[in-house]
Amino acid sequence: MPKQAIRTAVHADLHKPAWEQPQLHNRWHPDIPFSCTVQPGEVVKVECLDWTGGQIGNNDSADDIKYCDLSRIHYLSGPIEVPGTEPGDVLVVEIQDVQPFPEQPWGYCAIFDKNNGGGFLDSHYPNAAKAIWDFEGIFCSSRHVPGVRFPGLIHPGIMACKPSQEMLDMWNKREAELVDYHASIGTKGVVANLPNEKYAHAGAADAAIAATVAKEGARTIPPREHGGNCDIKNLSRGSKSYLPVYCKGAGLSIGDLHFSQGDGEISFCGAIEMAGIITIKLDIIKNGVADMKMKNPMYIPGPVEPHYGPSRYLTFEGLSVDEHGTQHYLDVNVAYKQTCLQFIEYFKKFGYTGEQLYILLSSAPVQGHLAAIVDIPNACTTLGVPVDIFEFDVLPKEGGFAKVIESDCALTSGK
Ligand code: ZN
Repeated sequence: MPKQAIRTAVHADLHKPAWEQPQLHNRWHPDIPFSCTVQPGEVVKVECLDWTGGQIGNNDSADDIKYCDLSRIHYLSGPIEVPGTEPGDVLVVEIQDVQPFPEQPWGYCAIFDKNNGGGFLDSHYPNAAKAIWDFEGIFCSSRHVPGVRFPGLIHPGIMACKPSQEMLDMWNKREAELVDYHASIGTKGVVANLPNEKYAHAGAADAAIAATVAKEGARTIPPREHGGNCDIKNLSRGSKSYLPVYCKGAGLSIGDLHFSQGDGEISFCGAIEMAGIITIKLDIIKNGVADMKMKNPMYIPGPVEPHYGPSRYLTFEGLSVDEHGTQHYLDVNVAYKQTCLQFIEYFKKFGYTGEQLYILLSSAPVQGHLAAIVDIPNACTTLGVPVDIFEFDVLPKEGGFAKVIESDCALTSGK
């Protein structure tokens, strides 16, 4: 039998507003209609817009990041119906390839304004900034972060099956309780994004269903039991993901493609975000959820990764003692923040700005690890940066470093 041509199951149009495209949606809800049907064993291509649905341009200003409308995100492709799947089954997604659109060989990584999205280091870097990354086959480089070039570990940030109504109700209840609790103790800032009717897009739904989805649909920002916005950089080419199924027909959605990302997706828009095409093959494990006692997805990484020798990572350590000297108890969040800040302070010596390095941390294939979580009172985390991504020698040496970088990333017009 000759192999069949690979068809495109989901079309995404780069030149049309995302909210007018019926094969895309931006909320999680069981009632969003299937956008297409893919048989188990079939290989298909799925086209995806970037997570913002094209709100960010290839230019030298970060104004589009500062004013990006976060009620519109994330535009996902699907839900894909997989005949034969029932609740309790596991959907196996093999990622065979991920590529940018040939007509759009670029992506972006950005720091969001503290008052619009924020990010891991927003108390240190509160203003919007952006870097455009140009793709050259497997490599990328940026006019906004000069002096580096590296291969991408290309992957989707988001992949999941539709939640059941019961699961959706549970998410909405527990997240509302969290918001109420933090309001009661006076926490500043947003702790969770509850359903928001503004700019909800329910794909091909009719008006009545679209209204329900807008009212109840879970936002796509956090990862949850079904997978979702996990931002795992190793879900790349050749990987296999095992996703729990909650609805008849599964309803797989994919989106938020990344050309490359560091562990932790540190700046919130913390990867090289791109529009592109993902090639997948689906399979079903009947009753897999109970048989494998699954609560959350599992995966097997692909065999294709940028390969830097194990001793070519300059690795920074951080502890759960914050920058004010306050001791925290085994707090991994504090420790990883300190680890990232160590990296930034070290590389500023070469002339980079803090914003450029915050963006580089999010874009390059840096390895974040949990070193120790038992040695009270300090958690210890590490962050390894492949030194060979730099075009100059960055290893520690006596006498300090020469300043080699003299330009900045894209900033807002107000600055
Ligand atoms: Zn993303």
